[in-house]
Amino acid sequence: MGKRTKQYKKLMRAFELLGFRQPYQLLMTSDVVLDTIKLDLIGLFEKTLSTKGLKPMITQCCIRALYAKNVGPNRDPAVVAAIDRAKTFERRRCGHLMDKDPLTERECMLSVVDPKGKGENKFRYVVVTQDEWLRDRLRSVVPTPLMYVRRSVMILEPMSSSSVQAREREERAK
Ligand SMILES: [Zn+2]
Repeated sequence: MGKRTKQYKKLMRAFELLGFRQPYQLLMTSDVVLDTIKLDLIGLFEKTLSTKGLKPMITQCCIRALYAKNVGPNRDPAVVAAIDRAKTFERRRCGHLMDKDPLTERECMLSVVDPKGKGENKFRYVVVTQDEWLRDRLRSVVPTPLMYVRRSVMILEPMSSSSVQAREREERAK
């Protein structure tokens, strides 16, 4: 087993002490689906997290962001492929209504991951996004494993300092 694989397994075990359970709920933004369309995305997740216990998910707003790209005369076949792939994921009903102004993916993700705005990842999502702003923002929503893809390699970020503090509180309480 590679060094990185071991490190990631250890990291996910630490998250499991904070309430994560398999199948892990992988909540993705549209950019991940688009950027990985030529890759075996689920295979990558399985390899990175050393498990087949995964539930890929996408919110209504994030899949809608893909549909919004699929317009006009110069449609990108990659977008169509991304939509087809995203349709195979479990749809997270975020409840943001289509007839109102749609939320940005950032707003949608923040409201789904931290519904009460208390800095807690209530439903224990693993968040997968290429959006650095969003990952940065979610470092203070705990505990949240954060993943992204760079040059066909899937990265699991080290636990954020806020999540580490949550873990320490948890251990002290035992
Ligand atoms: Zn939404």
